[in-house]
Amino acid sequence: MPSCPVCSSHVDLATTPTVPFCCDRCRLIDLGRWLDEGYGVPQPRKPGPGEPQPDPADAEDDG
Ligand SMILES: [Zn+2]
Repeated sequence: MPSCPVCSSHVDLATTPTVPFCCDRCRLIDLGRWLDEGYGVPQPRKPGPGEPQPDPADAEDDG
């Protein structure tokens, strides 16, 4: 008997329409986890060595 990957409940293959999950709720929970991993965590962007740096002379324009 397989078990639900989310809550580890036993899943009856013959009577459960949401196999391999025990219920629709667990199916959505797992889907949410996949989406979270897919989008990843937004990283703060830093200019690399090959990218143009902001020109400090540009800021002195109040003459
Ligand atoms: Zn479950």
